[in-house]
Parts: sequence; C-alpha cells; structure tokens
Amino acid sequence: MKDLKVKGIIVKTVNVGEAGKMLTILTAQGKVRALAAGVRHAKSKRLSATQPMCYGEYVLKKNKDFYHVSACECLESFYHIRESVEKLALAAYFLELTEKTAEGHHLDEAVAWLLNTLYMLANKEHDLLLLKSVYELRLMQLLGLAPNLVACNACGDSEDDTCFHFHSTSGGLVCEACECDVAGAMLLDETTLYTLRYILYSPPQKLFGFVVNDDIVHKLTKICKDFLATHLDYPLKTEAYFWNILP
Ligand SMILES: [Zn+2]
Repeated sequence: MKDLKVKGIIVKTVNVGEAGKMLTILTAQGKVRALAAGVRHAKSKRLSATQPMCYGEYVLKKNKDFYHVSACECLESFYHIRESVEKLALAAYFLELTEKTAEGHHLDEAVAWLLNTLYMLANKEHDLLLLKSVYELRLMQLLGLAPNLVACNACGDSEDDTCFHFHSTSGGLVCEACECDVAGAMLLDETTLYTLRYILYSPPQKLFGFVVNDDIVHKLTKICKDFLATHLDYPLKTEAYFWNILP
C-alpha cells in the first residue's frame, strides 16, 4: 500500500503502551487516526510534531487496521498559546469543538478557520471570551448551522431592528409579536444585534480587530453558549474546563 502524506492539525492524542500515542489528525480531507510509536520518550525527535495542537506534515503507512506515523514534521506549534493556562484551555476547546462537528465538504474551511484562530490566539492579545464567541459563530456558519440574524424566524418580519429577541430553538431572531409564542427568548439591544451580524457577515480578516465592552461580550457569550447547547447535543469536557480555570 502506498504511503499517505498529509498536512493537518492534531486534535486529540491518547497514550498507547509504554511510549506511544494514537493521534487524531484533522486534515482538509478528513480525520485520520495514526499510531506514533516511541514518541513519549523525552528525547524523541518526534515529540513536538505529535503534541495536541501541532500543525504538521505526516507520512503514514497503512498496517492492517490503522496507520503508523513513519515520519513527521511540526510546521507550527502555536508555542505562545502554551504559555497561558487560559489560552491553552480555550485552544483545547476549539480543537474538541472542531473535531466533533466538522465533517464532509466543510472540512477544508473548518481547518483553515481553526488554524487562523489559533494563530491569532498565539500571537495577539484578544479578549478570550469575545474570541470564543467569534470562533463558535463562524464555525456554526461553516457547518451550515448559523443563526438567522436577518428576519424573524417565525413570521419573516425584518422591519424593526430595535425589538428583536434571540431564541436558540427557533434558530435565531424572533420579533416582538412572535416572542410571546416562545419561551426563553432574550431581548437583543441594537449593539448586540449589530455585533452578532458583524461577526457572521464580515470578511474573516475583520474578525480579529474589533472591540466591544464587557456587557456586550457577556451577552454574546450567553447567546453563543445557549445556541451551541441547543444545536449540538453533546457536552464538551474542554469547555467545562475552560470555565473552571477562568479567574
Ligand atoms: Zn415574527
């Protein structure tokens, strides 16, 4: 069987035997699992290329049921993320969220979005909660699960931006008239609605440069948390950990 050469990001590792690791590599073509032998030895030359979050190039050999890593090179380790406990926890959440949700024809864009965001997390100082909401909303959009922020999901009304509510189960906005038919909708002020639209509809290069006050960040966080919990029916351990270690 021919060797497989892939570029991808390690989204998960599980220790195997005395010094091996089973890697899950997220690539633009799909998820690949591959066993890397002997890489947990402190002197292993393949230590950095087989760490979670490493973006690298991997040469894989098929052996019966799964692949073995025969060569690998770390192209980007996102080293600076590892210097902050909070950043590392947020990055781990991005990896798990993407690994569990991204599939099919959206994968190449999801991998690019993940790499782009990790790069920003590593090299710039951002409000971590704002970055979390931006990542979640744009990932949902790539997966075809974005909330509708254009008009009321129930009646289609798009006239008045000042009295929309956000309702996760309905899939986004509901107007004031329809809001009484749903439970748990949250009234949106104009700035929060504007910011949500900015995040979903701006070009990617504009997503890492804007700032909003803490009140808006708090509202975005709540909306995204609720929206993801409604549309992804599984808890993510890394998200719980992120909330636990925040000061
Ligand atoms: Zn309506």
